[in-house]
Amino acid sequence: MHEYRKKLIEVALPLEAINKEAAREKSIRHGHPSTLHLWWARRPLAACRAVLFASLVDDPSSHPEQFPTEEAQEQERQRLFRIIEELVKWENSNNETVLEAVRAEILKSTNGSPPPVLDPFCGGGSIPLEAQRLGLEAHASDLNPVAVLITKALIEIPPKFAGKPPVNPESRKKLDHSKSWHGAQGLAEDVRYYGKWMRDEAEKRIGHLYPKVKLPKEYGGGEATVIAWLWARTVKCPNPACGAQMPLVRSFWLSTKGNKKAWVEPVVDKKNKTVRFEVKTGNGEPPAGTVNRRGATCIVCGTPVPFSHIRSEGMEHLIMEDLMAVVAQGQRQRIYVEPNHAQAEFVKNAHPSWKPDCSLPKRHRNLQTPAYGMPNVGDLFTSRQLVALTTFSDLVCEARGSVF
Ligand SMILES: [Zn+2]
Repeated sequence: MHEYRKKLIEVALPLEAINKEAAREKSIRHGHPSTLHLWWARRPLAACRAVLFASLVDDPSSHPEQFPTEEAQEQERQRLFRIIEELVKWENSNNETVLEAVRAEILKSTNGSPPPVLDPFCGGGSIPLEAQRLGLEAHASDLNPVAVLITKALIEIPPKFAGKPPVNPESRKKLDHSKSWHGAQGLAEDVRYYGKWMRDEAEKRIGHLYPKVKLPKEYGGGEATVIAWLWARTVKCPNPACGAQMPLVRSFWLSTKGNKKAWVEPVVDKKNKTVRFEVKTGNGEPPAGTVNRRGATCIVCGTPVPFSHIRSEGMEHLIMEDLMAVVAQGQRQRIYVEPNHAQAEFVKNAHPSWKPDCSLPKRHRNLQTPAYGMPNVGDLFTSRQLVALTTFSDLVCEARGSVF
């Protein structure tokens, strides 16, 4: 049996350096896996890298024959700390000199055969990615198929194309045979090429469903690309004297950021029992939302409305929607624009050729939609979303067909 050797992580870590780099990483966009796909609770790469290293490398106290005194041990520990401090820097992510030194330390502490790393709930894939970087055999899984897909794209697919030239026609034409392709460079060229091709092609096919929006005068007028259309679901008020189509909105805030406050101001016409929406900015605040955990309130007459009413309207497919605001892409800022009838009508021009057909579980504490008349996965998307998703899915197949 092996004598148990204490690992560095059980004794000490240069936490300050690790924390600093982990925090810094959050503001790095270019080249960071976080830009591959959104994932919540993504672990900082710096922390994963440091923890893996320190879990494999022996603490110097495990080698009294080499480091007989506490002073000698502490000196060696400090040497390992310096290695970690270099290792956790974002700039050194692909620094082979640093990584080779790190891999050598790991081999030294593991008799030349480090154990494989298994992350059974890998999420965004930070741990297996860093394990791979440190030269370790990495295995990962997750219950969530999105996590599995992200991790595959991050650690399984790139190595298959390591050192290979790109295959897209443009790069092939100007392929310089004397150029050698390192790591995922060739794959990256192809991702850029086909990503742009898909984007341009999608714009040709479905761009008309995403009209630009006219900007208000205070933003210099002109037109801007829409980032999001914000909808409110509406339901008929059960008060017989009212009967308004009441919006169900948790919060009317659009942005609560210090000097960029913006919100939707519902304007109620009591006589005609209608509601329209204006976008406000500056000082002030919107009225409270019309739905909370206890139920809803009609914004026109103030009647409290229980969820049971909303559910039964949903079962009759009587839940409607109304456009509350349009979010546009300004220069380095989001611009919130008041909705207009034309913007709301564009959605009706979307006719998906396909939609998912798969029942949602009927009794599930986290799936509320079946009780509101939306029992199928296909019910969870708008027509425009289905058209977009179907188009992108088709384009993936077409891009593949053009290569093989
Ligand atoms: Zn009402």
